[in-house]
Amino acid sequence: MSTASAPETFDSWVGHDVTDVVKGELKFEPVPVKPWDEDDIDVKVTHCGLCGSDFSMLAGHFFPLLPQQVCGHEIVGEVTRIGSQVKDVKVGDRVGIGAQCDGCLECEWCVKGEEQFCPQMTFTLGAPYPRGNAKGTFSHGGFAKYWRGPARFAIPIPASLDSAEAAPLLCAGATVYSPLKYYGAGPGKNIGVVGIGGLGHVAVMLAKAMGASVTVLSRGEAKRDEAKQLGADDYIPTTKDAAADVKGRERSLDFIICTINPESLPASDYMTMLKPRGTFVLLGIVPKPLELSTMGMVVGVSGIAGSQIGSPAELKELMEFAAKHKIRPWVQKCSMDNINQAMADYQAGKPKYRIVLVNTDNGGTL
Ligand SMILES: [Zn+2]
Ligand SMILES: [Zn+2]
Repeated sequence: MSTASAPETFDSWVGHDVTDVVKGELKFEPVPVKPWDEDDIDVKVTHCGLCGSDFSMLAGHFFPLLPQQVCGHEIVGEVTRIGSQVKDVKVGDRVGIGAQCDGCLECEWCVKGEEQFCPQMTFTLGAPYPRGNAKGTFSHGGFAKYWRGPARFAIPIPASLDSAEAAPLLCAGATVYSPLKYYGAGPGKNIGVVGIGGLGHVAVMLAKAMGASVTVLSRGEAKRDEAKQLGADDYIPTTKDAAADVKGRERSLDFIICTINPESLPASDYMTMLKPRGTFVLLGIVPKPLELSTMGMVVGVSGIAGSQIGSPAELKELMEFAAKHKIRPWVQKCSMDNINQAMADYQAGKPKYRIVLVNTDNGGTL
């Protein structure tokens, strides 16, 4: 495939400064496309989920904004072009791209298939490519008509998975699947899930499908019924008095996955629920430093850990698992043409639980 035949721009929804995200003013315009490498594919984007990290990126919380910032990292679409070195993907395949779109491919982590730990791990939503013709240029996400990047990070979507429901698995799903697997969710394990939103609702479904018992902690009674619908075995309505909320539940959980990022997280109180050697797993980046009581951790021999996205291999495994166990994230579909309204709805906390943007002119259905 020659570079001469490759398009030079992809029409995309672009953030230009940090106020764009607040005002909901992404602009639809052509964006120069990644220089072609022979391990690349082009994907006609049909769907793209809307994730909290897109907002953090567009708000400049992670890095300064690029001149043309294109976010979106729960991308599903059809492969329209492949490079000469691409082996496992063919034109016409339905694939997904999550939060990582490249790595150095040479370090110990890339070599052993844990590319998410590569020191040059490339975020899909606007980070420098570390290699090839694109070295030093920045990645663009899926708020666009087309996406280009290395085939290694494109995940096959099993035929039985709906594209809109597969999209949230690519970031939200991967972010909870990875720690559920690592900490051994399965029969006989009691797991806590803090927060029912884009990540938490998938965590409950996955943990149940793995055979674990699940206790949900969520503010007030608002989500009790929904937690039950998702399969949760128990529900703790949380208040401002976290110590009282969890009283009588001491040493009941093997590990806790915390999907929320409030201003101040009562981690020490929640950690009293951990069995000895249990782990409190943080997925959200808390703005302020955490205050932790070491007494509970030492006596309970419990720990606190972070977790992030999974590897491409884990994502493939998750897709197969989701197909086998009929995991269906709760999605609300919205035309990508209305992305600015969708972003306002997201910020108002309206989605239950994931907004998926759809390019109908590329074959996506609302
Ligand atoms: Zn995400
Ligand atoms: Zn690497």
